[in-house]
Amino acid sequence: MSALPTAEEVRTRLAAVRARIAAAGGDPARIAVLGVTKGHPPEVVPVALDAGLVDLGENYAQELLAKATATAAGGADRPVRWHFIGHLQRNKVRQLAPHVALWQSIDRPELVDELARRAPGARLLVQVNATGEQNKGGCPLDAVAALVDRAVGAGLAVEGLMTVGPTDADRDPAPGFAAVRALVDRLGLTTCSMGMTDDLETAVREGSTMVRIGTALFGARAPRVAVGD
Ligand SMILES: *Cc1c(COP(=O)(O)O)cnc(C)c1O
Repeated sequence: MSALPTAEEVRTRLAAVRARIAAAGGDPARIAVLGVTKGHPPEVVPVALDAGLVDLGENYAQELLAKATATAAGGADRPVRWHFIGHLQRNKVRQLAPHVALWQSIDRPELVDELARRAPGARLLVQVNATGEQNKGGCPLDAVAALVDRAVGAGLAVEGLMTVGPTDADRDPAPGFAAVRALVDRLGLTTCSMGMTDDLETAVREGSTMVRIGTALFGARAPRVAVGD
């Protein structure tokens, strides 16, 4: 793994990300940048905060818990807003609940029900699989409205939708992003979380309101070794 960047480097890279957003026709003041810290050690958190980031995203329960605990131990004067953006196992919801500000990967009824039980009123995005790929997280497009209804009915705060572009880098992400944005509007939601390091321009052009950026801010990650979610 490459060394951690300095706060100054991350600040410069964040400015470059905002410049990419603007160059793609987006308003950097209205499109949130979520810093994705997965794959980096807990020391990345103060670096990210020093660089001006407040919203940080993690994919794995154990990593989020380790970083949230380390950060709290370092002083609670600068709270992080943690976003959970990875595949979520139902049995992790309880442990994560005290730390997560926005659940971005709610994609099935059992998660809605568990969240309503363990984190009443929690804020969430429904993750959409807009590419039809198998083995990929996300609720199918035609099941999103019912899942949103179920979450609202359970007292949860559904703020929008989240999606991940196609796994196949040769496939155009635009149609999937456009479909998710249209659904956000049709359902009267506000947040449209889409776009990562490699496809943020397309996501911005298709109406993203939040891009989730790891590599372009923090550098390459160590390959993930299976340690359990
Ligand atoms: C890893 C990840 C990101 C960030 O990816 P980069 O390509 O490093 O910017 C964003 N969203 C999700 C869901 C991810 O898993």
